[in-house]
Order: sequence, then C-alpha cells, then structure tokens
Amino acid sequence: MDLRFTPEEIAFRQEVRAFIRDNLPTDIHAKMKLGNGPSKEDTVRWQRILNAKGWAALSWPKEWDGPGWTAIQKMIFLEENQMAPAPELSSFNVTMIGPVLLQFGTEEQKQRFLPRAANLDDWWCQGFSEPGAGSDLASLKTAAKLDGDHYVVNGQKIWTSTAHQADWCFVLVRTNPNARKRQEGISFLLVDMKTPGITVRPIISIDGSHHLNEVFFDDVKVPANLRVHEENKGWDVAKYLLGNERTGIARLGKSRERVNASIDLAHKVNMNGQPLIADPVFRQRVAQLQVDMKALEITQYRVVSAFDKAKGAGRPDPLSSVLKVKGTELLQATTELAVDVAGPMATPIWAEELAAMNEQDELLEAGSASTGSYLFLRAASIYGGTNEIQKNILTKAVLGL
Ligand SMILES: Cc1cc2nc3c(=O)[nH]c(=O)nc-3n(C[C@H](O)[C@H](O)[C@H](O)COP(=O)(O)OP(=O)(O)OC[C@H]3O[C@@H](n4cnc5c(N)ncnc54)[C@H](O)[C@@H]3O)c2cc1C
Repeated sequence: MDLRFTPEEIAFRQEVRAFIRDNLPTDIHAKMKLGNGPSKEDTVRWQRILNAKGWAALSWPKEWDGPGWTAIQKMIFLEENQMAPAPELSSFNVTMIGPVLLQFGTEEQKQRFLPRAANLDDWWCQGFSEPGAGSDLASLKTAAKLDGDHYVVNGQKIWTSTAHQADWCFVLVRTNPNARKRQEGISFLLVDMKTPGITVRPIISIDGSHHLNEVFFDDVKVPANLRVHEENKGWDVAKYLLGNERTGIARLGKSRERVNASIDLAHKVNMNGQPLIADPVFRQRVAQLQVDMKALEITQYRVVSAFDKAKGAGRPDPLSSVLKVKGTELLQATTELAVDVAGPMATPIWAEELAAMNEQDELLEAGSASTGSYLFLRAASIYGGTNEIQKNILTKAVLGL
C-alpha cells in the first residue's frame, strides 16, 4: 500500500494552510493559540468565512455548495484547520443535520434548512440522549403524539451540547410506544428552540464551563411537516446520522496542535535549572506521543480512503471505532501533557500568585487554558458513543468474537 500523499494532495494542503493563515481573524487566532476555546461568535464568524470560500459544507454535493473534495482532502482540511488552530466547523450543522436532510429530507426541508446550516445562520443541537437512554439509545421515552397537522412532544433530553445557544434541535421521539421492536417506534423531528413549552436548564461541567444542558418538553407543538423521513422510521435516520460521517472523528489535528504548543512552552519553562525541553524523560514522553499520533494518522487515512472507495456512506466502517478510541485516548494524553508542562500555572490559585510575581502572562494564560481542556476532555471517551461501546463494536464486527 502506498502511504504517500500525491503531489496534488501536497499542493492542496499548502493551499488550505495559506488560506487559513491569510483569512483567520487575528483575534480568534491569538485567543486559540493560547489554548482557549472559541466562543459561539468566533465559530460563526469563521464558518461564514469558510462557507463564502465554499469550504464549509464538507461532504455535501456540489449542488448544495459542497467543495467536492475526496475523503483525503477532507481529512487534510480538518487537520490544517485544527492545527492552525482555528474554530472547528459546527459538526451538528455540517456533519449531522446537513447529510441527514440531503438523504431523507423533503425538497422543502432542504431548501429551507441547508443553506442556513452551511452558513451557521441556524445553530443546531442534538436531542438524542435522555436520563435513561444513552448507550442504549433505543430505550428513549420522550413522546410525540400526532394531533392534526402537528405533534405534541413531552419528555426530557440531557447532555444536550449548546442547547442554550441553539436555534434548532433535531430530536428523537417515540411515536409508537407499542411497536414490536423499540427501534420501530421512533421518529426524527426538527424542533424550533423558541417553541413555547421548551425549557433549557444548564449543566455546568467540571471545567466550570456551560456547554451542556437538560432540555424539557412540555406540550411542545411541532408541525408535522418538520418530521424527517416517515413516521416510526427515525431510527434509520439516527443510524445514518451517527454513521455517515466518520471523517475526523479522531480530531488528530487537535492533539498535534496541543503537543506542538507544549513543546513551545517547554522551551520557556525551567526545571532543575534548565529548560524542560532538555529533560530526557520529558523528551521521551513527547516522542512516544508523536509515534502514537503517526500510527493513528496512518490508520485514519487507511480507514477513510477504504470507506471512500467503497462509497459506503450510511454504513459506518466498524474500524472507525479504532479512530474514536485511539483518537480520544490521545486527546486526553495530550491535554495531560499540556497541564504537566504548565505545572503550577495550571492551578488557578498558583496562577494568581505567580502573576503577582510577574511571571510571563503568556505562560500563565496557557497554563490556565490547559486545565480547562484537560478537565473537559475527560468527556471525550464518553460523548459520541463511549469507548466501551466502541470496543464492543470492534470485538463483534472486526474481531468476530
Ligand atoms: C460532553 C458531552 C457532550 C454530549 N453531547 C450530547 C449531545 O449534544 N446530544 C446528545 O444527545 N447527547 C450528548 N451526550 C451524551 C452522550 O451521547 C452519552 O453520555 C453517551 O452516549 C453515554 O450515555 P450515558 O451517559 O447514558 O451513559 P451509559 O450509557 O449509562 O453508560 C454508563 C457507563 O456504562 C458503560 N456501558 C453502557 N453500556 C455498556 C455495554 N453494553 N457494554 C459495556 N459498557 C457499557 C458506558 O461505557 C459507561 O462507561 C454528551 C455527553 C457528554 C459527556
């Protein structure tokens, strides 16, 4: 197998890198370079710049303003964008609801929602998980009853990322509680978050940020023409959504960027009278991470290009579970590295003391940002399907056990 990039792919990477360098607003870049996450406004601003260039609707067909890239080009783009570092495209818009509407939506739904999703005019969120339905999603209970030309929705969702900022939510509801199989009684609705009867309650995560929410539905009226696909066929839509887009699941560019930033910091931080970068144990740890990232990169390109060649959209390659497991392990290991390099500056109390002693601002800011990412990314092995579930998939579908 030839694992080299073609000359066209190398030129493409340079084109992407140059575009990001020349067009990413400097304030967003400066903030992210210090390890801070982008705000909603930063993400919207950057996605609109990319959309104007035709680079937002990554896997959509050209007639819906997709760039027409191969899977490898998409990977290259995602990696360059993460490494810049720049805000990532809204996955709810670009890799979830967009492809779902392209596959199952009515013409009216496509016209109404797709251009706005690509341009982030509508911010979407995902209402799947419930207090009693996470890994076992088919046990969801939020109910929708058809009443004339609309559904009446009652129930609760949880862990709904960015629901407090969202304009729309795609929601899985139970429309037939008596179905023979649980999966056969579920439908997929598009819900306007401004509809009366919706209450969004924040969940503050361990890093102190507000990203997660509970969402309550009390007699929420949803027009029936906002159901996607047939009634009681929502499970097919959900499976397509979860499986269609595996490109970039490992977020390798994020890990790379974090290791590069840690190396930069390790030149400035002193340990035992010398820069940390000179410490052999530290160097060995960084080298091991680099090796692991290289191995994951090669696996990623193998999985993605095989998937692309098989034209298997909608049927996830079970091998992509390797990318999720290894990718999130590396996200966690690299945030741990960043915190270790920051040392006492990673603890807010010490950071204040050190600021009073005129320590370098840059080090202090990077230190406190590293703690936030470290804490939040403990969740990476839970969201998007827990790593235990991914391992179950691998044992069955790949190892045949
Ligand atoms: C930061 C974050 C963001 C999220 N964003 C969203 C969102 O936007 N929208 C949304 O709908 N959901 C979201 N989720 C929810 C996420 O999809 C669920 O948390 C996840 O699917 C796990 O479900 P659960 O929390 O109910 O845990 P459970 O399914 O109850 O699992 C508990 C533990 O048991 C293990 N386990 C469960 N079943 C098995 C099994 N069969 N074999 C082996 N081990 C098993 C799990 O791996 C886990 O360790 C988010 C979660 C987090 C943490």
